[in-house]
Amino acid sequence: MELFHSKYKTLKYNRNMVIKISGELFPDELCERCGRCCIVNVYKDSNGVPVIIYCKHFDKETKLCKIYKDRFKKEKTCLSMMEAIMAQALPKDCPYVKNIKNYMEPKCYELLRYYEGDKK
Ligand code: SF4
Ligand code: SF4
Repeated sequence: MELFHSKYKTLKYNRNMVIKISGELFPDELCERCGRCCIVNVYKDSNGVPVIIYCKHFDKETKLCKIYKDRFKKEKTCLSMMEAIMAQALPKDCPYVKNIKNYMEPKCYELLRYYEGDKK
């Protein structure tokens, strides 16, 4: 027996709605402003030191987004918090995901943590 009528088989993804719901579910106040979710690439230089490439809209001095209010209109690759959680794009110690069981972070955060630990 089919559980769903065929017209429901294609899920509609309304990104504006996702962004709106995400803002309601995940308040900005939880953010610790570490800036790590605005990293777009990390690679090691010839000495094995991680080189961090941030989003072009990220202000390294303030650790804030320069286009925060308009970020979803001006930067197509910027993820809402809900999308970032589903894509497992955040570091595992980020307050928005630290209590999610079996959450897997991207490898680059482990590398950065390891390097930061080495410097202490
Ligand atoms: S990784 Fe988490 S705590 Fe850090 S800036 Fe992003 S949302 Fe905020
Ligand atoms: S546009 Fe998005 S990824 Fe880029 S700095 Fe702003 S919040 Fe971070």
